[in-house]
Amino acid sequence: MSRPYCSSRPLRHATAAMLCTICVSMLAAQTRVTPPKNKYTPAQDAELGQQAAKEVEQQLPLLRDDRIESFVDRIGGRLVQMTPRDMQHREFRYSFKVINVREINAFALPGGPMYLNRGMMQAAAVEGEVAGVMAHELSHVMLRHGTAGATKQQPFQIGAIAGAIAGAIIGGNVGQVVAQGTQFGLGTYFLRFSREYEKQADLLGVQLMARAGYDPLDLMHMFQTIEKQGGGGGPQFLSDHPNPGNRETYISQEASRVRVEGHAGDAREFARVQDRLRSLPAAPTTKEATRTQTSTRPGQPAPQARTVDTRVSPPSSKYKSYTEGTLFKVSVPANWREVAGSTSVKFVPDGAYGQLQGRTVFTHGVEIGFTRNEVRSLQQATREFIDDLAQWNPSLRAAGDVQNTKLSDRNGLVTTLTNVSDATGRPETIAVFTTLLRDGNLFYCIAVAPQDEYPTYQRSFQRVAQSIRISD
Ligand SMILES: [Zn+2]
Repeated sequence: MSRPYCSSRPLRHATAAMLCTICVSMLAAQTRVTPPKNKYTPAQDAELGQQAAKEVEQQLPLLRDDRIESFVDRIGGRLVQMTPRDMQHREFRYSFKVINVREINAFALPGGPMYLNRGMMQAAAVEGEVAGVMAHELSHVMLRHGTAGATKQQPFQIGAIAGAIAGAIIGGNVGQVVAQGTQFGLGTYFLRFSREYEKQADLLGVQLMARAGYDPLDLMHMFQTIEKQGGGGGPQFLSDHPNPGNRETYISQEASRVRVEGHAGDAREFARVQDRLRSLPAAPTTKEATRTQTSTRPGQPAPQARTVDTRVSPPSSKYKSYTEGTLFKVSVPANWREVAGSTSVKFVPDGAYGQLQGRTVFTHGVEIGFTRNEVRSLQQATREFIDDLAQWNPSLRAAGDVQNTKLSDRNGLVTTLTNVSDATGRPETIAVFTTLLRDGNLFYCIAVAPQDEYPTYQRSFQRVAQSIRISD
C-alpha cells in the first residue's frame, strides 16, 4: 500500500510559519531554503540511493576503521538531527562512509548514503571543515536535488540510474566515458549540481552547521582548501559543486544571520583521526582502486585488458532510421545496432561494443544524447563538456580547430579530438558534434573510430550528424 507523502504538509507548513515568526524577533532571519519541484517521491529517492550505494560499494574500497568510522558517524548524526521539519522523510536512511582513495572528493546519494574520500578527510584542517563538506552534501540530499534535477527530464528507470550514478562516480577515461555514455549523461545528473542548487546547499549547509554547533565559516574554508589543492582531484569536486558566484560573500552573510548553538568540534579526536589516517598505507587513486577491486572481486575472472574485438566491418552504405522517443530522429548505417540508454543511445557495429572492467566500451560508432548545461553560449558549453571528458582522460587532446556546423538546422559545433582507447590501447579519433536544446541543455553526438580507420568512418559520421532531427 502506498500513502501520499504530502498528507501532513499543511500542518508542517503551519508549524514552520509559527516558528519563523518567533525567530525573526530574535535574529536577523536566516534565508528560507525550499526544496525545488520534484516529481519523484522521497521513497524513490531512497530506493535509488540504496541501489546506487550497493554498486558504489562493490566498486570502491571502503575504509574500515572504528576510529575513523565513528568520527564521521558522530558528525553526520549530529547534522542530520538538525534536518528542517519539512525535509524529514522517514524513508531516508543516512549513512556516512569513507572511501579509501586519494582524490579530494565527497558525494551523497539520494535518500541518504554519503561517502567521503580519504583525500578529503586528510585535506581538512579542523573537524568543522569535514562537517562543512558533510553539511553541504547533506543539504543536497535533504533538498532532494538529485531527483529534482532529473524531474526536468524524461522519466528514468531507477535501476538504470543506479548503475549510471556508480559509473559516473567511478569515472574512467574518455574511452570509457565515451564508451559508457549513458552513464555519463545520466549519472552526473545526480552528482553534479546546478549553480542554483549549489547556493541552496551552501545556505542550508550554513544553517545545519550552526545548529549543530560548528562555525559555519568552516564550510567556506573547506571550499578554499579544495581550491588550493588543485590537481589532486579538487577540480572534480568543484565541477560537481560549481561556485554559483560570490560563494564566500553569501556564505559569510548567511553565517552572520545564524546563531551557533554550542560547540561541536573535538580538536583532540580530530588530531587522533588525522594520525590514524597518516599511519595507514597511502591511498590509491580512484582509478587504481577500481582496477584492484574489479580484479579481486571474488568469483569473477580477472579483467582482460582487451575485450573488444577490433575486427569490425566498415559502415554499410545503406542507412536505417531510428527515432528516440520524442527527442530526435537519426539515420545510421544499416549494420549498426542501437544500444539504448536513458539519456543517450549508441549505434555500434558488431564487435565494437563490449565490457571492460565492468564498464561498457565501444570502439567504433556514435553516441547521441544530452547532458546538463547551464551556460548560455554553445562554445562555452561545448568547452565544459570536453573539459569534463578531458578531466578523466590524460590522453585526450584537441586535434585542430573547433568548426561551425549545422545540427538539425541549428547552430552547432564539431570538435575533433584524439585519444588512446582503453579498450584496445590504440589511438582513436573522436568527433564531438554539439548544439543547444531549447531547455538550455547540451545535445551531443560523439563519433569514435580508431585513428587508422577514421578515414573510412568520417563520411558516415558526417552523414549521421546531418541526419539528426531534434524535436524538443
Ligand atoms: Zn554541491
